[in-house]
Amino acid sequence: MGKIRTEGVGEVQEFVDIADYAVGLSRMMNGRVVASERPGHSILEGSFFQQDMFRTGTNTTVVPNPLGVVAVLSAFNFPVAVYGWNLALSLAAGNATLWKPSPSTSLCAIAVTKIVAGVLERNGVPGAVAGLVTGGKDVGVGIVESKHVDMVSFTGSEAVGRQVGSTVQSRFGKVLLELGGNNAAVVMPDADLDMVVPSVFFGAIGTAGQRCTSTRRLYLHSSIVQAFLSRLESLYQSVRPGDPLDPATLLGPLHTRAAVDIYHNAVERLQKTGAEILTGGAAYRELPAPLNGGNFVMPTIAIPQAVDVKDPVWSTETFAPVLCVGVFDEIEQAIEWNNGVPQGLSSSLWTRDIRNVGKWIGPAGSDAGIVNVNVGTSGAEIGAAFGGNKSTGWGRESGGDAWKQYVRWSACTLNFSDAAPLAQGVQFSNPA
Ligand code: NAD
Repeated sequence: MGKIRTEGVGEVQEFVDIADYAVGLSRMMNGRVVASERPGHSILEGSFFQQDMFRTGTNTTVVPNPLGVVAVLSAFNFPVAVYGWNLALSLAAGNATLWKPSPSTSLCAIAVTKIVAGVLERNGVPGAVAGLVTGGKDVGVGIVESKHVDMVSFTGSEAVGRQVGSTVQSRFGKVLLELGGNNAAVVMPDADLDMVVPSVFFGAIGTAGQRCTSTRRLYLHSSIVQAFLSRLESLYQSVRPGDPLDPATLLGPLHTRAAVDIYHNAVERLQKTGAEILTGGAAYRELPAPLNGGNFVMPTIAIPQAVDVKDPVWSTETFAPVLCVGVFDEIEQAIEWNNGVPQGLSSSLWTRDIRNVGKWIGPAGSDAGIVNVNVGTSGAEIGAAFGGNKSTGWGRESGGDAWKQYVRWSACTLNFSDAAPLAQGVQFSNPA
């Protein structure tokens, strides 16, 4: 999709990591046994249990059932890892999986599917258990509407996710949504700028700003604005676009010509509303062959006149390297701005003061699904559940309890006694 080599290799590593994780997890996908209020009864959450449960008296064999078929619809910007997050958990839960990748990343999908099919077949499982179908919107719509698909895990834009969510919901299927982000970094006066500046630099221009977790909003404390921006600006100006496969390249192209238009529209909107363009704001001109004619745009830092989180400049996700800067005096103001947008994926606070950390991670703190401290917005590990709140869709994938979405839960009450009492002491018999 145009990302640089080290990020591409990292993405494949992420697939390997989640596959390892799921193998271990497959031994721990337990339900539980709940005490019953009725004598001689037990309640199993999950419902499948091994026959010897009663003989050995063990409660550890209660596991939920598979759902059936899980479809994975994925976005262009993570053409490998996002499928891995879903496939590994879905397979471990016992489902068949059908993948529809972005139409512009079919080669990645074919390569991954061949590797996975080989592994399955070597282990006596048909490769079609991890099926692939390529195509565009029409194929996606067919999957979303199909009653044969028990769960749809969708990763993509808010606009498409809204349609997918309501269609799957209307046929009472299960849906998992991982949608757009509009992520903020908040920098306090006590932050270590040697750490923050390179992290914000990566967050904002890594993958040419085409990560759901890219840093798009930067809130700086008023006392550090000049020092921070002069260091960040010089890092920006040192960046040269290049062949993404060249290990020296940090900045690859945008994915499509349409994305270049979105970038230009965003810059124009900023200029019209009086923002100062500190650096960037244009496509690269006169790049040497073979880069000429590519979708390379200059990473941009803009300082809008004011922070108004209702203004589209702040409230929409521009999938390109455009960073908007706002200045605050109190952390409460920065948290309000962080939370004031529709999206809720990733966020990061930079501070060495534990009191700020308490405000940031507490109930009145960041409302995002990812709430980092002294770690950038971009770049997650597979061990924790990944996902965002609000218009990012509330989905969770990868680690944590994410696997619990890929199974069919049942509450199974077992009566071992000689009586059949009703719950809550209800009596339903004719008075003697
Ligand atoms: P997109 O919404 O255009 O496409 C995503 C997928 O949906 C593609 O496979 C596409 O073919 C399919 N599709 C399009 N219309 C459809 C329809 N009506 N019904 C069913 N399927 C349909 O997204 P994109 O441009 O490929 O990706 C960029 C977006 O994805 C950004 O908003 C980014 O933030 C988001 N994203 C989110 C996460 C996350 O985990 N939250 C991760 C990666 C990307």
